[in-house]
This record gives sequence, structure tokens and C-alpha cells, in this order.
Amino acid sequence: MHQAPYPYPATLIFGIPGAGKGTQGDILKSIPGFFHVSSGNVFRQMGDATEEARMVRECIRAGELVPDELTIRVFLEHLEAKRHSGEFKPERDLLLLDGIPRAAVQCHLLRPYIDVKLILHLVCHDEDGMIQRIRRRAKLENRPDDYSVEVIRKRFAIYQRQTLPVLQEYPPSVIAEIDSNQTQAEVLLACLSALVPVFKANFPRKLPAGG
Ligand code: ADP
Repeated sequence: MHQAPYPYPATLIFGIPGAGKGTQGDILKSIPGFFHVSSGNVFRQMGDATEEARMVRECIRAGELVPDELTIRVFLEHLEAKRHSGEFKPERDLLLLDGIPRAAVQCHLLRPYIDVKLILHLVCHDEDGMIQRIRRRAKLENRPDDYSVEVIRKRFAIYQRQTLPVLQEYPPSVIAEIDSNQTQAEVLLACLSALVPVFKANFPRKLPAGG
């Protein structure tokens, strides 16, 4: 296997917990040419066999961010494993990152590996709606971290304090603001309108696959 051809072009799916990042990510990842990574999902799949995995589980349970170095290491290991298995093909796939980077330090740590071409910023001001959505998902996906309103509010506060500054790390020209208070189809349309030109610019020879 060749050395990793860093930095990988990437799009960030960005927004406050409950804004609908996961929903859009799930739809977009079914389109050939996009490779989706949700850091929350990667963390939840770690189990609890190691000390690190138990630390991650505790951070998630408390609604706190996992330490930055650990986050980046786990993320890069996941990405490399997917490249080795052939599921992620850097010459073909635009990365869609959901939940990472989530703090300014993570942007710095990722800079040699990830080239952020576009940020889909899902904007939502309906706090009660987001809380409802998160609690519904908690039941459906068995995510006990997401059921306590107290923990959810803490995650909103952490988002404002630690995650929103991520936007300052990139030029405004790469940020597409998308009102997530629309139907899922409308949000998808807005995401695709921003994404497709970025995909074509980075993978100019890709032709649509049949099938
Ligand atoms: P949501 O989509 O509701 O924002 P996620 O599934 O992305 O939730 O994340 C769940 C939890 O995983 C977070 O509350 C945090 O504890 C941890 N986590 C996910 N991504 C990161 C990250 N990039 N840095 C630190 N912690 C993270």
C-alpha cells in the first residue's frame, strides 16, 4: 500500500448537535464519490476493551469533548484502516467529515492531513426542536448520552464555546450557510448545490457511474 497521499480534500458537515448533520451525512454517503466519517460514530464503535476506549466512553456520557490529540489519532487511524481496506479511495472520494474538527486545536492538528475545501454550516436556532430531535434519536439509536436534557444543554454550551471558533480557522469563502429549518429535501438540495462544484473541481475527470 502506498504512503497516504495527504492532504485529502474534504468537506465539513458542521453545526450544533441536533441541527441535522447526521441525517444529511447518511443521505450524502450513499452517493458514489463521497466518503463519510462521523467522529461520534467512530468513537461509539471503540467498545470498552482499552483504557483509551473507556476514557472516550466517559467523555461521551458526560457530554464533554474527547481530548484533542486522542481524537485526531483515532480519526486518522480509522481513515487509514478504511484506505487499506479499499473502502476509502483518496483518488476517487471526497471526504465528508461530520463532527470533526470540533475545536480550533483540532483544525491545527489536522492541517497536514485534511484540506478543507468546503464547510456546510447547518444553521438552526430552534433550540427546543433540536432537543426534541436529539432525544428522539437517543431512543432510536440507543444513545443514553443523548437522553438527559442537562447533558444536551451542556453540549450546546460546549458547541458555542469550543466548536463555533472552528469557523474562524477557514476563509469565509469556503463556508456555505444552510438553513436547517427546512424540509430534509430542501436542506439536501442546498448541500448538493454547494458540494457538486467542489467535487467536480477536485475530481475533474470523474464521470458519473452507471448502475
Ligand atoms: P452530535 O452529532 O449530536 O453532535 P456526535 O455523535 O457527533 O454527536 O458526538 C458524540 C460525542 O462524541 C460528543 O459529545 C463528544 O463527546 C464526542 N466527539 C465526537 N466528535 C468529537 C471530536 N471531534 N472531538 C472531541 N469529541 C468528539
